[in-house]
Amino acid sequence: DRITSSASTREDELLEASIRPQRLAEYLGQQAAREQLGIYIEAARRRNEALDHVLIFGPPGLGKTTLSHVIANELGVNLRTTSGPVIERAGDLAALLTNLQPRDVLFVDEIHRLSPVVEEVLYPAMEDFQIDIMIGEGPAARSIKLDLPPFTLIGATTRAGLLTSPLRDRFGIVQRLEFYTPEELGAIVRRSARILGIACDPLGAAEIARRSRGTPRIANRLLRRARDYAEVRAGGVITLEAAQAAMDMLKVDPEGFDALDRRLLKTIMESFDGGPVGAESLAAALSEERGTIEDVLEPYLIQQGYLVRTARGRMVTSRAYQHFGLRPPRRADQ
Ligand code: ADP
Repeated sequence: DRITSSASTREDELLEASIRPQRLAEYLGQQAAREQLGIYIEAARRRNEALDHVLIFGPPGLGKTTLSHVIANELGVNLRTTSGPVIERAGDLAALLTNLQPRDVLFVDEIHRLSPVVEEVLYPAMEDFQIDIMIGEGPAARSIKLDLPPFTLIGATTRAGLLTSPLRDRFGIVQRLEFYTPEELGAIVRRSARILGIACDPLGAAEIARRSRGTPRIANRLLRRARDYAEVRAGGVITLEAAQAAMDMLKVDPEGFDALDRRLLKTIMESFDGGPVGAESLAAALSEERGTIEDVLEPYLIQQGYLVRTARGRMVTSRAYQHFGLRPPRRADQ
């Protein structure tokens, strides 16, 4: 598995309880989202109302689940969590909704993967706090309306574009999470090190932050690997040198790219003349799923200016050639 995979591992989950921020003040970075949510949460609390429904989107590992915990804590209500593919039938959703207390938060991860039938039930639930459920079968079947307590739905997804528009339109608050800056990630690494009792000096933390693909989940994971390295090879303290050596050993380069990132860029350069190449062809050439490429690999490479998406497909930039010490080819259309 990739050390820089933004998917959660078992080790990540075990440590989650201790390092996951619980309050808005501990949720570092994402200034715009934090400021706006702070106001909406405070307003809802003062009016003693449920917070409007919130849609959070952004690549994996940026803090969508964490933010939903923070919102529920700040509202002082319970949080129920589930995910799109887990809610198979309309009845599953009805059971979840009818068990909520007033103003509770229901967090639905991967909300773009809800089935159309379940989504239909969600619309009136979100809009009017009501659901229609079918009782009985055949000719005796009838539909009854149930009132729900006012609640807040928080939906998370990797891309807002994956949602159907009637669903997207029912969220009053939409927050897009951005990749974190190295400074913000440095603060996250120092905080996690403090909580986990890891000796990490500021330059070591900064180096880990720089190589974490703008993603807190990866930063926390690289911190643990750097700690292992420092304990065995470097006297127990994550210094700049220890952090560099630990990450070089993991083949995470100074830009935070791992073998798969490099393979993606090189494949476009070597097999597709720098692009443009369509998502399907690229997925086939890399033997990776298209979804992984689009949701996990590309967003960071694009944000960092190594890759662009055009109408005809993705292309590498001159920056990508420089990264590998290569000269960009002259293009006929330039
Ligand atoms: P997502 O749901 O977007 O995949 P998570 O909410 O599970 O991501 O966050 C991944 C990890 O990053 C968690 O360990 C969490 O503690 C940490 N994290 C996320 N956002 C922040 C933040 N703003 N400040 C500090 N730590 C964060």
